[in-house]
Amino acid sequence: MHAIRIHQPGDPSVLVYEDVANPEPGPGEVRVRLRAAGVNHRDIWVRQGAFGAFPEPLIPGSDGAGEIDALGPGARDYAVGQKVVINPGLSCGRCVYCLSGQQNSCPHYRILDGTYAEQIVVPVQNVVPMPSGLTFIEAASIGIPFVTAEDFLTRAQATPGQTIVIWGANGGLGLATLQLARLRAMRVIAVVRSQTFVERLKQLGASDVIVWDGSLPISPEVLTMTHSKGADIVVDSLGQASFSQSLEMVRRGGTVISVGSTSGGKVQIELGQLFRRRLTVLGAYMGSSAILPRILPLFARGALIPVIDQTFALADASEAHRRMESHGLFGKIVLDI
Ligand SMILES: [Zn+2]
Repeated sequence: MHAIRIHQPGDPSVLVYEDVANPEPGPGEVRVRLRAAGVNHRDIWVRQGAFGAFPEPLIPGSDGAGEIDALGPGARDYAVGQKVVINPGLSCGRCVYCLSGQQNSCPHYRILDGTYAEQIVVPVQNVVPMPSGLTFIEAASIGIPFVTAEDFLTRAQATPGQTIVIWGANGGLGLATLQLARLRAMRVIAVVRSQTFVERLKQLGASDVIVWDGSLPISPEVLTMTHSKGADIVVDSLGQASFSQSLEMVRRGGTVISVGSTSGGKVQIELGQLFRRRLTVLGAYMGSSAILPRILPLFARGALIPVIDQTFALADASEAHRRMESHGLFGKIVLDI
């Protein structure tokens, strides 16, 4: 089969299109003929070596959609040809966290790699039937961003009528958060770096859009919009560039969700700001394995919409990463396989 492999960490040029052996499913596993793979920020970190070096060449990619094309011994409930979406969390399945549906707190939790390929072998519990009405491209764009956003909104007890601020609302995670917040009848204040996104964000349900120039603080604007109270929840995926502002714009007793650090991960916090104002800082990383099967039908019904920025051929994965790193995108980048 054809696949993208990484032999050493580096810039997008280390994503090499190669011929590799077809993987064979073992007991309890299925092989999926992938038709599309969603590109996530995580893939960039993997490529750069943030999760370790590559003793073996690695096929990146965690989100994908395709058709079952082989079943290992004992892999039941699926048939060859059935359309499925990859559910990318791997965990032990036996610990107290797994048994209570919090797989992303399992000590053995990790996100699988390998969807930048024509085929992938995964445990049968890591595929979910793909609803009709979605294309492979759309289905492959949903996983990580929607699972992550749904998990942290649930943990933050996001409630109808509350105000949520979303930094980087034009990205895949930002748009997933926006839509899931609107489903909860929340008021969304979207923060972006370009005027060109404003109309589309409003069409998707943002009440207000702040275009941030990258230097002047926007917390005064948020305080004005919330009658000096502050937002109930602030979703921060930028880190260094935004975190101190997030603490300033959240209300007393409110929650700041830390879900990434695309601008850098070192921040200085005056702890009095946390305890005197009774703030909660909630770290978010993926979510329960139950979320993807639960929300996929909402896409089939049109209650949630996959927003695709651009598609690239599998062989052009390095171009896709360059686009991802340009930060000018609106929605998801997907590889067409
Ligand atoms: Zn476990």
